[in-house]
Amino acid sequence: MTLAMSDYELLKAALETVREAVLITDNQLDRPGPYIVYANPAFCKLSGYTIEQLAGQTPRLLQGPETDAGLMRTLRQQLLAGEEFSGETINYRKDGSSFRMQWKIRPFPATGQPRYFIAAQRDVSVMRNLEQQRQQLQALVEIQTQVGTAGLDLQAMRDQVAEVAMAVTGADGAAVEEAEHGEMVYTASSGRAADSLGLRLPVAGSLSGSCYLQRESIHCRDTHHDPRVAKAAADKVGFRSGLLVPLTHKEQCFGVLKVYSAQPDAFSDDDLKLLNMASQLLASSLADARLFKGERDRRTLLVDSLPILISFVDQQLYYREINVAYTRWYNRPIEQIVGKQVAEVMGQTQFEDIQHYMLSALSGERVTFEYHLLQADGAAKPVEIEYTPLRSTKGEVQGFYEMIRDISDRKHAEQDYLTGAFNRKGFDDRLEMVCTTARRYRRPLALIFLDVDHFKRINDTFGHGIGDDVLRALVKALLNEVRDSDIVSRWGGEEFAVLAPETTMSEALDLAERLRLALSKHQFDIVGQITASFAVGEFDHQETGNDFMRRVDAALYDAKAGGRNRVARAN
Ligand code: GH3
Ligand code: MG
Ligand code: MG
Repeated sequence: MTLAMSDYELLKAALETVREAVLITDNQLDRPGPYIVYANPAFCKLSGYTIEQLAGQTPRLLQGPETDAGLMRTLRQQLLAGEEFSGETINYRKDGSSFRMQWKIRPFPATGQPRYFIAAQRDVSVMRNLEQQRQQLQALVEIQTQVGTAGLDLQAMRDQVAEVAMAVTGADGAAVEEAEHGEMVYTASSGRAADSLGLRLPVAGSLSGSCYLQRESIHCRDTHHDPRVAKAAADKVGFRSGLLVPLTHKEQCFGVLKVYSAQPDAFSDDDLKLLNMASQLLASSLADARLFKGERDRRTLLVDSLPILISFVDQQLYYREINVAYTRWYNRPIEQIVGKQVAEVMGQTQFEDIQHYMLSALSGERVTFEYHLLQADGAAKPVEIEYTPLRSTKGEVQGFYEMIRDISDRKHAEQDYLTGAFNRKGFDDRLEMVCTTARRYRRPLALIFLDVDHFKRINDTFGHGIGDDVLRALVKALLNEVRDSDIVSRWGGEEFAVLAPETTMSEALDLAERLRLALSKHQFDIVGQITASFAVGEFDHQETGNDFMRRVDAALYDAKAGGRNRVARAN
């Protein structure tokens, strides 16, 4: 199909409907040519010029500072050689705004000396933007991977965020600033900002502060011409132009991410867009790390504020975690306890004492016991130790939590200061407990009272101090004779009680006799020999602890009345 030249109007109409911008020039390639002889409406729309404004002009009026001069030379050479040309560069509209133009030029006619050049042009800015966005998305994916490596370590995460922000924007300084008590605190900084770590500036009056308060990103093109900026402070850190984006997560803004450069106008709006996108990702990672650290801090604070030693001991009996109380007890820094074996920290002798309790815990048992634990200064303190096994989801014991309570105060409250035996309170507390157990399991329980004979005379003859020594030595002698589970207490002045669980009347009578003999044979310093009178009773499961006590106490009078240095039996 061919059209005659008389169909010029038809062809012109066709050119006026196409979307491509078409421009036809004459063939005078040398300045001031070529001259525009035709522009279609799409071209006018693209360039912002009317047909009248373009007529007689040269297409050079579309060129500007960012136009690729080298490409324009190639264009000229190819056209001169009678070839087609296609390329892409920046052109400028009438209003001065730029766009990326892709175009193709053909000489007309196609052979021989050209009379015209026909240029078909397209604005490819949008396409190029898509390309840029694709690159930005790529950058975001990389950011995600990178911040992923910081795990939940908050400081590592902050540092990573600053590094990433600097890298994606090509800045020479970056900082994470977090709001705290009315101040913006530099919690991470890199590049030019590295020296600013820990810096605090009031929220009010700073650029970061207003970014934080308004929750809006700020593009500062030149601090020297920005009324919002404190110039002196900005110059000090080498901040001439920069981008600030709020760090917002779940509606909460907790800080600002800032990148900057010592050069004015170093960042484009695209950089800001990218940083904004990145900040959402960074903020959520950072928020997670903050939350995790917050929880850990609160937990640590709580655990460290307790006056209890708390640790986790693994299967190989290594300390895996300890609280601050440990470092005080052993007067060693954390790193000299965590990762060390229990035996190494508490000493071999003490370890051997309690090893079997630890093995019970590792076999899955919950263990509680009292012990005298040595401190760093060599003093032993009464403690209550508790082991709670930790099992994996499969049920295997992975170790145990150890809790050690200093029970000195409790011990003091229950101990007789003179002899170290239980005092009346310690005795009363235990009496109730032991009676309840005996009653519930219907087990035998015995109580022995003893009162030193004519103790007044000892005081009168040798003095109170010597009397005290006798009382102390007497308790030692008693403790020598009884079982560990028996409870020896100083009940009053020179009266003592021995509470003996799992002991029948006849066994208790034997024990009392043994005690009587032991005392009467014992050579007390200065004083020599003494005697004591004894009363023995067996617990009747129907009676109260108090009744039991009174019953045995009453029998003591029988022993005294019967001539002293003897054992009486309570009814
Ligand atoms: P008996 O029991 O054989 O009847 O005669 P006793 O002399 O032991 O009689 P009593 O129970 O009346 O006297 C107890 C004395 O023990 C009176 C008190 O001075 C003395 N005593 C009580 N507590 C202490 C103490 O802590 N230290 C000393 N040195 N003496 C004490
Ligand atoms: Mg007495
Ligand atoms: Mg007495």
